Amino acid sequence: MLEQLLAFVEQEMLISTTQILTISLSFQEHMTKGLSGLASSLKMFPSYLGAPSGGETGTFLAFDFGGSNVRAALVDLKGEGNYLEFYRQSRPLANPETGYDYRDEAVTAAELFDFLAGIIQEVLNKAPVRPTHCSLLTGPLPLGFAFSFPYRQQRIGEGVLLHWDKEVKTSGVAGKDVGCLLNDALSRCGLDQDVKPTAIINDTVATYLTAAYGDPGIEIASIIGTGHNSCYLEPRVPNFESPILINTESGNFSAAPTTFYDLILDQQSENPGEQLFEKKLSGKYLGELLRIIVLDFSQRGVLKLMLPPRWHTPYDVNGKDLALILTEKADLDLNSSIRSGSEGLILQRIAHLLTKRSARLAAASFIGIVQHLDPYFENPHTIAVDGSLYEKMPGYAQEIRAALNDGLGTKSDLIKVRLSSGSSLTGAAIAAALVSLNANNS
Ligand code: BGC
Ligand code: MG
Repeated sequence: MLEQLLAFVEQEMLISTTQILTISLSFQEHMTKGLSGLASSLKMFPSYLGAPSGGETGTFLAFDFGGSNVRAALVDLKGEGNYLEFYRQSRPLANPETGYDYRDEAVTAAELFDFLAGIIQEVLNKAPVRPTHCSLLTGPLPLGFAFSFPYRQQRIGEGVLLHWDKEVKTSGVAGKDVGCLLNDALSRCGLDQDVKPTAIINDTVATYLTAAYGDPGIEIASIIGTGHNSCYLEPRVPNFESPILINTESGNFSAAPTTFYDLILDQQSENPGEQLFEKKLSGKYLGELLRIIVLDFSQRGVLKLMLPPRWHTPYDVNGKDLALILTEKADLDLNSSIRSGSEGLILQRIAHLLTKRSARLAAASFIGIVQHLDPYFENPHTIAVDGSLYEKMPGYAQEIRAALNDGLGTKSDLIKVRLSSGSSLTGAAIAAALVSLNANNS
């Protein structure tokens, strides 16, 4: 029974070579539709920024609000990919000691943004006088804000949150401009004379800017971490004269094969029907899928074991646990070595097929973007990837490579996928620099 069920799940989760190609084609179609303003699962948001030249220099405040952590620092851009970061402050959104979590529904927008402004204040406290390496000796320090959620903007300084994802639930933020919310909080701390938020960028755009600052060949950037999304440099955007970075919000792509377990996860999630690609692909959800599958196997009686309490709590099994299972470092209790025998091996097989599916889906979306840019595959393309899943999940990068080879054969040699070194903070500083330079030129 167990073998049959496993084989069935394996079959369901398998993304064949043909599927890689169909998914990439429909990804490309959704891109085209989204770009022309037609209904599409890909929102294709213009970022109002193009590629950096590498010549951007100066000191900027950088701020990064991800799904799990908040970071701020001063970044001194030195040109051509070189930079120094100072006074970095980093805080988790959930305090492990008190259990207090800024992502909870009970937390208000003002409470969350006061906490965020406090982190910026700490950076400034560490640099009590305007740092001597700062090129801007007067006026508020420009701040670049990397925001890892889907938002709409009509200019670079605003960002109206469409809806939370990655299971964040803080009240009163959806529908609001996070630039205004941050400004208000900075005023409440008396920092409005010292800091001026000038650019709001998606974290994929931050990844792009960081990577392209030292490597002008980068065309595409992707995050494969807690969440998933990609952006790329679009040569032709209506109403823009030069190429613009487009945030595809690919986590919402809707046309990938769906299994029984994906439906369960989606129905039980905070945002049913949304972020369907992300829910099959990113770190936030792979552990949860593993948990749902193992629970189902156990309820069907094919896996005979006592599940520890964690396995009954949504999102208590996470991407890190999955990585430990893959490397035989954890069993069901997720804190000791795999005991031996079949239970560990089954966990491993499921963890492996979920990871493999994730990498193959990501690869299919990359092929879709490359096809859009270069339909006849005539030129080389480089994709910079950031995120814990890509960086840390054993075998993940290799699975992406294998999927590109499966889908494209020798043409896949034209696609280079590489880890983006540096953080979103660097990209946020580069965005602030690009805005300052534009303001000075106009
Ligand atoms: C968000 C994107 C973000 C991605 C990676 C997704 O959940 O919708 O805006 O870029 O996560 O952090
Ligand atoms: Mg991040």
